[in-house]
This record gives sequence, structure tokens and C-alpha cells, in this order.
Amino acid sequence: MEKNEDGVATKTIENKAIEEIKSEIDTSVKRSTSENKSVAYTFRTELGKRVASGEISDIDEIISNNLKVLEPQIIDYLLPSLQTEFLFIGQSKGKLGGGKRRIIRNTQKVTAKAKRQHFSAMAVVGDGNGHIGVGKGSALESVVAKEKAAKKAKLNLIKIKRGCGSWECACSTPHSIPFKVSGKSGSVIVTLVPAPKGIGFCVADDIKTLLKLAGIKDVWSRVEGQTSTRINLGYASFEALKKLSAYRLLSNETKSLGLTG
Ligand SMILES: [Zn+2]
Repeated sequence: MEKNEDGVATKTIENKAIEEIKSEIDTSVKRSTSENKSVAYTFRTELGKRVASGEISDIDEIISNNLKVLEPQIIDYLLPSLQTEFLFIGQSKGKLGGGKRRIIRNTQKVTAKAKRQHFSAMAVVGDGNGHIGVGKGSALESVVAKEKAAKKAKLNLIKIKRGCGSWECACSTPHSIPFKVSGKSGSVIVTLVPAPKGIGFCVADDIKTLLKLAGIKDVWSRVEGQTSTRINLGYASFEALKKLSAYRLLSNETKSLGLTG
């Protein structure tokens, strides 16, 4: 008799435990499905809501009115053709300093407690049609650093003026830049000069990435300073490109230079 009673008692306890586990699984499943549903992003900021409602449908409206973008998703939504590339700011360890160049820069910080590793990445985003952004991110993990960099690059998006400012060419199409510009970051100064059609890029690889994503096809350049600091090279090129949208031109100049934007 006693044995039976004990048996029944343990069974009910087991059942209870199983039920509890089941309910836990149910809630976790519910949670994961609700997370999947929220993949369709809902904008949180005022600007995001105006974009979602269709009030703002052009990225240039945001840029020309100097509206502050806080959500990178707004840029993704308005410019689906946006591409992301990373500059080679890092270097793998190699003999005689000849390590292969990498997109992740690895730095170590030695504290009293431990040696900490930081990873940083520099992203360039652009649609190949006058929109370009540059951003840097660092984190304890390389993947997170890349994500942060891409996010920042999107939030830094600008629109540049393209054109043909080369007197040798004067074709009035936007394959190059309308005038000479230069940008500075740290000790690095990058100068971009309009080039005739078909020249391509006579520039360093990292600047090439920026120009390509901005939609510029032909350009000459001059780089001064410590170009081994790739981060400054990227920022200096971006500063130079920024100046392309800083000037206002007369309408007859606009025509003769074949300007866009
Ligand atoms: Zn031309």
C-alpha cells in the first residue's frame, strides 16, 4: 500500500515537472516567433515615421534640409541600392612588417587586470550615384566592429556634386568632379583633381573604393603626409568629397561643368 502511494506521489511530481518544462518551451517558442515577426523594422524616430508614412520619399530631401538621421534603417529604406565596403586599415602580423592588409585593425590594451583586444573597422557606403558615407567602429569583436562602422557610415551619408571640370575634356557629363578639392585628416592631405574621360583612377586603392561608391569614374589625385595611417587617408578623402557639395554655383556654370546634384 505504502509503496503504491509513494509511486503515485512521485508520478504527480514528475507530471508537474514535465508540465512546467512544456510551458517554458511554449513561452520560448512564442518569444522567438515574436522576434522573427519584428524583423520587418518599425521606425522609432520622428523622421523615421515620416519616411514610413511616405511624407519623405527622397534621401536628398533629408540631406538638403540637414535633417539629423538617427536610424541607419532610414537610409537602407530610401536607398536600397546602397553598397558597403571596408577599407584596409589593419595589417596581419608578418615578418619584416610585411603582413597582409586586412579590413580589421587589431589593437591591444594592457590593463592591470588583463590584456584587452580591440577591433576596429572603417566602412564606406555609397550607391554609385553621388551618395557616400564613411564611418569607423570599434568593439571587442570584429563582427560587431564592422556592423558599427557600417551603421556610422550610413548616418554620415552626404550627397556630392559630380561633373566634368577637366579643361582637356569639357564633355559636360558627370564622369569626374567639377573642380579641384582637398581634404585633411591628421597629417594626411588628399587632393582630387578633375580628369578627362577614360583616365580612370590614378589614386591609392582606399581612395578608389570611396570614389567608386560615390559614382566618380575619372580623377587624378595627390596625397601628402603619413599615408600609412589608412584611417586618416579614408577620412581625408571623405573631407575632400564633402567640399564638392559645399559650394554653390551659378546656373550657367552648372551647365558647362555638367553637374549633377
Ligand atoms: Zn569630361
